Amino acid sequence: MTNTKQTLSDLVSCLSDYDPDALPVAQAQQIIGGFIAPVNAIEKLAIRAALGRVLAADVVSPIDVPAHDNSAMDGYALRGSDLVAATGNNTALTLRVIGTAYAGRAFDAAVGSGECVRIMTGGVMPDGCDTVVPQECTQGASNDSVTLPAGVVRAGDNRRLKGEDLAAGRSALRQGKILRPADLGLLASLGVAEVPVRRRLRVAFFSTGDELRSIGEVLDPGCVYDSNRYTLYGMLTRLGCDLIDMGVIKDEPAALEAAFRSACENADAVITSGGVSVGAADYTKQIMAQLGDVTFWKIGMRPGRPMAFGRIGCGAKSAALFGLPGNPVAVMVTFYFLVRDALLQMMGASPAPLPLLRASAQSAIRKKPGRTEYQRGILSTDASGQQQVRITGSQGSGILRSMSEANCMVVLQHEQGNVAAGEAVDVLPFEGLL
Ligand code: AMP
Ligand code: MG
Repeated sequence: MTNTKQTLSDLVSCLSDYDPDALPVAQAQQIIGGFIAPVNAIEKLAIRAALGRVLAADVVSPIDVPAHDNSAMDGYALRGSDLVAATGNNTALTLRVIGTAYAGRAFDAAVGSGECVRIMTGGVMPDGCDTVVPQECTQGASNDSVTLPAGVVRAGDNRRLKGEDLAAGRSALRQGKILRPADLGLLASLGVAEVPVRRRLRVAFFSTGDELRSIGEVLDPGCVYDSNRYTLYGMLTRLGCDLIDMGVIKDEPAALEAAFRSACENADAVITSGGVSVGAADYTKQIMAQLGDVTFWKIGMRPGRPMAFGRIGCGAKSAALFGLPGNPVAVMVTFYFLVRDALLQMMGASPAPLPLLRASAQSAIRKKPGRTEYQRGILSTDASGQQQVRITGSQGSGILRSMSEANCMVVLQHEQGNVAAGEAVDVLPFEGLL
């Protein structure tokens, strides 16, 4: 689903320096972000099933967590005022033990001055008590009495306050959050069994090119195996999309049109690879242009210069279109920097910018100002604990090995020129990247 109110030309007419043939990455990101809209359908899921899904409404805490003041340690609960009185004359304090509070089994009577209660971690603080002295800080403990050396605790120590984790009525999780393991635990701690989440985004994808063969087919002379559908499968699966893998489509107008129509009928977004540069047999562009509001860009980036973006329609249905370049590294780079956030936005998530680290370049890197370069790198820690990065071998946009060997991408920003050895550069680590 896309923003039906605005056409792409409306959108770009607001940009003073729009040039589709030399489009900076930031501007492409801005146009894409402004054009697409989230899917609104919601489903209710049991919290385990909601892992990785996008929360569709704020969750307000129905209870205080914890529900009572309780002990953070195994030890003795006492009145802080006894302690203050004792430390005033700087002597040890001996208290009478009048009972035990277990986690889940409270000590029900009030505790007076000079008294204390043996308490376990998580045990409810008995009436009158506000302080816990850990067991290991006591001396001469018996069933009836315990002695605290002077100065081992201050009033209020080792007590967890009612509602300190989550207070009743306060927002515990915001809509738009992608639910992670901690969030499932947090929901469970509130006793919440089900949450509303956005429905999964349906993404159709196919590869275009007469030279492409699928695994299991004979590799005729001049042909290559289609790898883009596999990297796309991986990246889309990590994002939590529902996938419609449409295979390889030949560079034939009728086949391409049928594929786009079917994709549009069944999916919220369509991702293709290949056929968007200037090649002679590239019918992909032609068909895309016929089927919708699509623009063709030359983006100031390397790899990944050519790209199509827009919306295609089929009857009453429409889908966002991302026509990626054919080269395998270019597919991954354009996906991460131009498609990923857009899909997250369509999923109803509030995507944060990809977190870039700073690392020092282990050797000089050549770079032309006026385009963003994404080089594949290996990030490591030097002897003094500083992050450093070196570029993996050949950086050709068809060399997928450079991606596979890398553990990060070095992002050389638009205005940046050559990088000297030892200079700090931006790095996107792959670890943890959705
Ligand atoms: P194109 O943009 O269609 O001209 O493709 C650019 C280069 O990427 C060509 O060398 C293609 O063979 C290659 N390529 C295109 N699609 C794929 C794919 N799905 N898997 C592997 N290589 C591809
Ligand atoms: Mg091609």
